[in-house]
Amino acid sequence: MVLPSRLARRLRSARTWIALGILAPIGMVVVSGLMLLDLRRDAWSMAEQTSKNLLQVIERDIARNVEIIDLTLKAVVDNLKAPGVAEATPELRQLILFDRASTARDLGVMLVLDENGDSIIDASAVPPRKLNNADRDYFQAHKANPKLGLHISRPLVSRLTGSRIVVLSRRIDKPDGSFGGIVLGSLKLSYFAGLFDQIGLGKDGAINLYLADGTRLMRHPYVEEDIGVNLAGTPNFDRFLRERSGVFVGTSVRDGVERHYAFTNVGEWPLSLNVALSTREIEAAWGAKALVISAIVLVLCGLTVFLSLLYGRDLQRRAALQAELAELSRTDALTGLPNRRHFEETFERVWLAACRTRRPLSLLVVDADHFKRYNDRYGHAVGDEVLKGLASCLGASVNRPDDLVARVGGEEFVILLPETDTEGALRIAGKLHEAVASLSVPSAGIGAGAVTVSVGLAVGPADAASPNDLYRRADEALYAAKEGGRNQTRCASGHPENSGSVIQLRSVRA
Ligand code: GH3
Ligand code: MG
Ligand code: MG
Repeated sequence: MVLPSRLARRLRSARTWIALGILAPIGMVVVSGLMLLDLRRDAWSMAEQTSKNLLQVIERDIARNVEIIDLTLKAVVDNLKAPGVAEATPELRQLILFDRASTARDLGVMLVLDENGDSIIDASAVPPRKLNNADRDYFQAHKANPKLGLHISRPLVSRLTGSRIVVLSRRIDKPDGSFGGIVLGSLKLSYFAGLFDQIGLGKDGAINLYLADGTRLMRHPYVEEDIGVNLAGTPNFDRFLRERSGVFVGTSVRDGVERHYAFTNVGEWPLSLNVALSTREIEAAWGAKALVISAIVLVLCGLTVFLSLLYGRDLQRRAALQAELAELSRTDALTGLPNRRHFEETFERVWLAACRTRRPLSLLVVDADHFKRYNDRYGHAVGDEVLKGLASCLGASVNRPDDLVARVGGEEFVILLPETDTEGALRIAGKLHEAVASLSVPSAGIGAGAVTVSVGLAVGPADAASPNDLYRRADEALYAAKEGGRNQTRCASGHPENSGSVIQLRSVRA
């Protein structure tokens, strides 16, 4: 099972855990961020849908009422021209001119004014209530412009009822086309207030109704000072006028609150209506949720990073410890040289490499001469000092990075020399004898030349069947060196360059 074992190895790696500790929180942040954005989009689309629905309901109500009043005004204008109406009794004329719509709840008064502005017909009273409205803007507007059609006035206070109203009016033409007065119907502002008040839009939500000239007819929530204010020329109102219907986010000039506006023209009348929701309130519920989710995600991310780093560091420490132990298990404690195990592992490897490349591999087996005597004469501690000195001499004799010096027994060492032939190995052996000849332990009174070594050399892989065979041959050469009087190097017989012969190298005594 390749995959699980590879997975298990990955999971034991500190880098995997550190990477996980970084990637997992990034993933969490990205996913929760996308979720929050989605929730925010939902909040906005719900707000937009709600305000559009409200806008539609309110717009239809106002448009229907204005239309009813306008139809009544038109009927009065038309019926006044009908034959016999002028001659009818005031009671009959009132019946002919005004239908039941003129008694609608929010309708204020319905009057016909003559060309001087005097009331001549009153939908609610016979004889008509006395009144002159020649000074009113709507009267003057109709007088000046025969083609005005339906005129909707700015908010006014009724002279008859004292209540706040808007006046809807149409011009009456005399048969010769000259100004013959107007017919008017008033709509109480309380109608709009009542309509808007049924709707809850939050603390900063608002509903506004404007005349086309920018005059505010009504605002919800109701504040007296808002009524009649003209907003022509402000960015928001310009947009209402220009686009007629739509949605946008803008800042109110009235209170500086940023709102989402859904706006529309009311029917074909010169009226603009909007439902405005505070953007802060649209996002309030989402914001609270986002805060909680973000806090939880951040805590979880922090925890993940912390635990991953902790575990990663623990794994790193364990790996370092293992590496140290492994290194220790391959190192000789006294001399600091690689030990037998290290040597055997390396020997196996370089042997195979030498077989593959057909390059010579030399092995020197080095043994201290009469070492037992040092122990016996100076004690074990001095013996140890000599061994350390020998280790230094061996180390100083080689120079290539791939050369290996190891302590393989009590006072027995090896030098493994890849890519080195007999000649090269003998040069190293010579250097070793020279180095040993100058070795001394002054504290014990051991002077230079007192310590000697014997060396057995064998070169493979051509002359040896295996690493063991090469070692055995080097060992035999060492034995020969001992037999031959010590302090010398002997080369294993059978080598093509010195078959049968022995080479003797002696250290020069100081
Ligand atoms: P030869 O020339 O034939 O090799 O004689 P030798 O005395 O060196 O050989 P022998 O094998 O008889 O003795 C080796 C001695 O090395 C035995 C032991 O007291 C000593 N020895 C082995 N390991 C250590 C060590 O770690 N420290 C010390 N001080 N002595 C050691
Ligand atoms: Mg010895
Ligand atoms: Mg020995």
